Amino acid sequence: PSWPRTEGVTYDELVALLLNGPEPEKAREWSEYYTSGPHLAGKNLSQVVWTRDKWQSFGITHADIVTYDIYVNYPVGHSLTLLEKKSKSASESNDEARTREAEGDGVETQRKSTWKVKFEASLEEDVLAEDPTSGLDDRIPTFHGYSASGNVTAPYVYVNYGTYWDFEELVKANVTLEGKIGLARYGHIFRGLKVKRAEELGMVGMVMYTDPGDDGEVTEQNGYATYPEGPAREPSSVQRGSVQYLSFAPGDPTTPGVPSKPGVPRQSVNGSIPQIPSIPISYEDALPLLKALNGYGPKASSFSKAWKGTGLEYKGVEYNIGPTPDELVLNLVNEQEYVITPMWNVIGIINGTTSDEVVVLGNHRDAWIAGGAGDPNSGSAAFNEVIRSFGMATQLGWKPWRTIVFASWDGEEYGLIGSTEWVEEYLPWLDKATVAYLNVDVGASGPHFKASAAPLLNKALIQATQLVPLPNQTDQASNKTVYDSWNKHISTMGSGSDFTAFQDFAGIPCIDMGFSFGQDSAVYHYHSNYDSFAWMDRIGDPGFLHHAAIAKVWAVLAAALIETPVIQFNATDYATALGQYIEDARDKAADAVGFLSNEELQPTTSPLFRPMMRSVDRLLNATAALDGRAAELAEEVANGDVPWWKWWERLRLYYAVRAVNAKYKYLERQFLHKPGLDGRSWFKHVVFAPGRWVGYAGATFPGLVEAIDDGDKAGMYRWAGIITGLINKAAGSLEG
Ligand code: GLU
Ligand code: CA
Ligand code: ZN
Ligand code: ZN
Repeated sequence: PSWPRTEGVTYDELVALLLNGPEPEKAREWSEYYTSGPHLAGKNLSQVVWTRDKWQSFGITHADIVTYDIYVNYPVGHSLTLLEKKSKSASESNDEARTREAEGDGVETQRKSTWKVKFEASLEEDVLAEDPTSGLDDRIPTFHGYSASGNVTAPYVYVNYGTYWDFEELVKANVTLEGKIGLARYGHIFRGLKVKRAEELGMVGMVMYTDPGDDGEVTEQNGYATYPEGPAREPSSVQRGSVQYLSFAPGDPTTPGVPSKPGVPRQSVNGSIPQIPSIPISYEDALPLLKALNGYGPKASSFSKAWKGTGLEYKGVEYNIGPTPDELVLNLVNEQEYVITPMWNVIGIINGTTSDEVVVLGNHRDAWIAGGAGDPNSGSAAFNEVIRSFGMATQLGWKPWRTIVFASWDGEEYGLIGSTEWVEEYLPWLDKATVAYLNVDVGASGPHFKASAAPLLNKALIQATQLVPLPNQTDQASNKTVYDSWNKHISTMGSGSDFTAFQDFAGIPCIDMGFSFGQDSAVYHYHSNYDSFAWMDRIGDPGFLHHAAIAKVWAVLAAALIETPVIQFNATDYATALGQYIEDARDKAADAVGFLSNEELQPTTSPLFRPMMRSVDRLLNATAALDGRAAELAEEVANGDVPWWKWWERLRLYYAVRAVNAKYKYLERQFLHKPGLDGRSWFKHVVFAPGRWVGYAGATFPGLVEAIDDGDKAGMYRWAGIITGLINKAAGSLEG
C-alpha cells in the first residue's frame, strides 16, 4: 500500500468530482419521482426496487434489499366530536333516564337523546389545486404512528406543549387530569412523550394541534398570506407522526435489541407504545375546541412563561386551561389496524481496500404523506446525487481506501425502524469495522445549515462545509461557503432520526445535518400533505440548489473520512467536550440547592466530581498524544514518497497508520455501558442519549444528570463511578 494513491483518480480529483457531480436539475428529477405518491413505511416496495436499480445504474454493483418483519399500525378510521349536553326540564331527563335504565340503553342512543354535536372536526387537509398530491385519492389519512385504538368521551384540558414540566404545573395547580382528554399543542419535545406522560397521569386520550404561534415570524397574524397563496401555514395542515415512547427503545417495539427477522421471539408492547388513543389535528380544527374552553378553569397566562406565546388569541381564543364541565365533552375515536408486515432497506456497498474500516451514509425513504419533499426526500434526492457522483469516480477506476455503505432506510417515521433493525442485525460487524455514520434526513426545508455531531467529527464537518459554495449568494464574487453562512453551532446527538442506533446502541460517532428553516423562513409543513413537491419547487428550494449543496457537503465529508490515510478525527475535541459536560452536570447539581454539600460541589475536593475530572485529565493527555501522532503520520504520508523498493519503510508507515486508526475507530465504543441507562437499557452510551422527557434534544451524561434530576444521590455516585471507569478505560485504550 502507498499514499497518495493515484489509481484512477487522485484525492484532489475525487473532491473536485464530488463538488461538481451533484446537479440541482437531477435532484429535482429524483425529488419529483419520490414525491409523486404515497410511500408510507412498509408500503413503498416500488420505490425500494427503483432505488436499488438506480444505484446499480450509477455503478454501485453491490446494492441489495434487506427485509424485516415489523409490528406496525395503519389507519382505519377516526372522528373527533365536541358534544354538549342539552338543557332539558328535570322531568324530561328523569323520564329519559328511566327509559334508558329499563331498556339497558347503549351509549349511542344516550348520546342522541341527550347530547348535541357542537362541532365535528374534519380531520382532513384541504385539497389544493396548486398542490396536486394534496388531492390524490389514495392520500394518507391524518393519524399517529403506534397510536392506540379507542373510543373515549370525556371533558378536556388544555395542557400547553404537554411536556413533563407542563404537566407538573397542572398537577401543582390542582387541575384534574385523571379521566380527561388532553389538548396539546405540538412543539418542544417528541410527541410520543406527551402521550406517555398524559397516560401516566390517568388521562384517557390526547389530541395534538399545530399552533401558528409556534411558526416564527411568518404567520397569518403578521400579515403573511397562507399557503398556497403565501408562505404562512395552511390552516388545515396536520402534523402526522409517531407516538412511540422513544426513550424506551427505537425500532420494532416487539423486538428491542434484536433484529425483526422471520420467527424472532416477540415481546409484549406494554410500556413502549401508548395505551390511550391520540390523534393529530390542524389549528382550524383546534380553534372551536380552544374557544369552547373560554371561561373554564385558570388562564394559561397565569402559568409560567412556558405557557405564553400562544398564537390564536386574535381568533378569539382566551387559552383557558379547563377542564370543561361534564356537560361539554370530546368524543375521540381512533381506529388502528396492527399488523406484522415487511419493511425494506436498500443497502449499497463500494468495497474499499481496507475492509475493516467502514463509513456508512444513510437517509430514510418512507414518508407520512404522498409528498415528503422535505422529509425525507430532499435527503433522498441529494443522496442519489452523492451516490451517482461516487459511482462516476468508480467508473474512472477509483477504488475507495475504506469501504462505503449507502443505506436507504424504511420505517424511520414510525420509530427509526429500518436503521435500528439493521444495526441490531449487523452489530458484530459494525462494532468491529465502522468508523462513522453520516445521516441526512431532511436535506432541505429552508436556507439555514444545521448540524449535530459527535465531537470526534466536529473538525471533519467544519472542513467539509468550507469546501462547498453557498447557494443563492447575492454577491457571487464573494465566494462564500456553507461554512460562512452557518452559525457554527454543532448540537449534541439526541434522537429523532436514523443515527440513533448507531450512536446510542453501537457507539459509532455520527453526524446529522441539513438545510433547515428558521424564524424568518416560509413555514415548512412538517408531516403534512403540503410538504410536497409543489411547495419545494416554488417556495422551499426553488432551483433545488440546497439539495445539491447538501449533497456536496455530504459527499466531501464522506470522501475525507473514506480516503485520507489517517482517519480525520479529533480526539482532543472529545476529551474537551467531556470536561465541559462534567461542568454542566456540576452546575446542575449546584442548582439543586441543599442536595449536595459544599465539599461535594468543590471541583478540587468533591468525592463525586473530582474522580471524573481526573479521568478527563488523563484522557486529555492521551488524546493530545494521539492527535499529535496522527498529525505527524499524516504529514509523513503526504510528503514521504517512499520508493517502492523500500518496502520495509512503506510497511512501517502502513502499520503505524493502522495502529492510530484503530485507536480512533474504537474510541467512541469505549463509552458503551452494557447494562444501559436506568429504565431504558437499550441505550448503551453513557455520554449521549435522547433527553428522557425531551426525545429530540440530546442529554449529556444522561445517567448522572437524570440521577440529579431525580434527587437520587446514590444514583449520582453510582453513575459517577461508571463514567470515571469508562473515561479511564478510554484513556487506557489510547495509551501505549
Ligand atoms: N423523525 C421521526 C419523528 O420525529 C422519528 C420518529 C421516532 O423517533 O419515533 O417523528
Ligand atoms: Ca429490533
Ligand atoms: Zn425524516
Ligand atoms: Zn419525519
